[in-house]
Amino acid sequence: MLRASPLNRRQWLKGAGAALAGAAVANRLPAAVPAVRITPPGLVQLSLNENPFGPSPHALAAMQAHLGEVGRYRFALVSQLVRTLAEKEGVTPDHILLGAGSGELLEATGMYLGRTGGEVVSAVPGYFQLVGAMQRVGARSVAVPLNARLEHDLGAMAVAVAPETRCVYVCNPNNPTSTVVPPADLRAFVIAMALRTHVFVDEAYLECADDFAAHTLGDLVAAGHNVTVARTFSKIHGLAGQRIGYTVMAPELAKAVRPLMTGSANLLGVVAAQASLADPDYIGSLRSRIKAGRDALQALLDELGCRYAVPQGSFVFFQTGRPIAEFQAAMRAEGILVGRPFAPLLDWCRITIGTEEEMARTHAAIRKVLG
Ligand code: PLP
Repeated sequence: MLRASPLNRRQWLKGAGAALAGAAVANRLPAAVPAVRITPPGLVQLSLNENPFGPSPHALAAMQAHLGEVGRYRFALVSQLVRTLAEKEGVTPDHILLGAGSGELLEATGMYLGRTGGEVVSAVPGYFQLVGAMQRVGARSVAVPLNARLEHDLGAMAVAVAPETRCVYVCNPNNPTSTVVPPADLRAFVIAMALRTHVFVDEAYLECADDFAAHTLGDLVAAGHNVTVARTFSKIHGLAGQRIGYTVMAPELAKAVRPLMTGSANLLGVVAAQASLADPDYIGSLRSRIKAGRDALQALLDELGCRYAVPQGSFVFFQTGRPIAEFQAAMRAEGILVGRPFAPLLDWCRITIGTEEEMARTHAAIRKVLG
């Protein structure tokens, strides 16, 4: 018969020592990992249309509260967020597709709409992600120049729509020009075009505009028009790094697009989005700060005699009168990163509204470079 032999003193001390050492290791907190600075120190990042103010404190708290849950899949939390979004948009949950940023939904919808070739009509310069996805699967891009106010030229776009058109893409406010189209004109255009083809309205920046309600076309989806509206938590909600956005689209289209998606919203992004939606006061305060930044920059550009497109997004597009690469380099030398070239307007610059301190530095840099 086997019997456990009693430990002698030496064995006991050895075992206890090992256990204590193990406990010490287990209890030792990891050294704080310093946050990696995404923007090199000393530089002001105004080139990527990020939100410099960051997310709502409620969103930060929600992410912190869920850190211990990140070993889990996020299915249950997703359905809750989809229900919230459906309610906000006045549609049923099967109208909502949630993605890893709205970019993923632009890609997947583009791949679906372009799968049989055909054409996509959009404005240039504009945001190219959906157009690019359609081109990759064989569709042709029909790029319609903006009008003199650097807004979508709706008349010319209507003329460009043909039997081969699989999609009209409208970005409102437009990236890179920050312009919106007069709301009644855009609504009439979208309703008319949706009788002929699919219309995709990208409202990534619309919550930064003075009057979201006057411009949004989300209600057209609910009313059954052949329209998709895309929104993101990357812009006014300040969650670009969390990769979460959504489309409001017909349930049959959502069902067709879903299998083409390769990513999905992540757990911390989902809880942050839910918390941010419940903090409209913070979002409203950001809207005011972005508007104040836009107004002050417009005043400076007026003073310097620079042309600019009338902005409604979180950024301003203005004419520098010199090649953008040259302007970019001169601004970088002053510590400010500004937007890339947007052909064919190669002496114009897109600049994101930063914090008040960042904008003070930016104004000084613009004065020095252009003054
Ligand atoms: N739509 C527009 C007009 C954008 O400018 C961007 C990003 O800058 C996106 C969509 C995609 O953003 P995200 O994938 O972060 O939601």
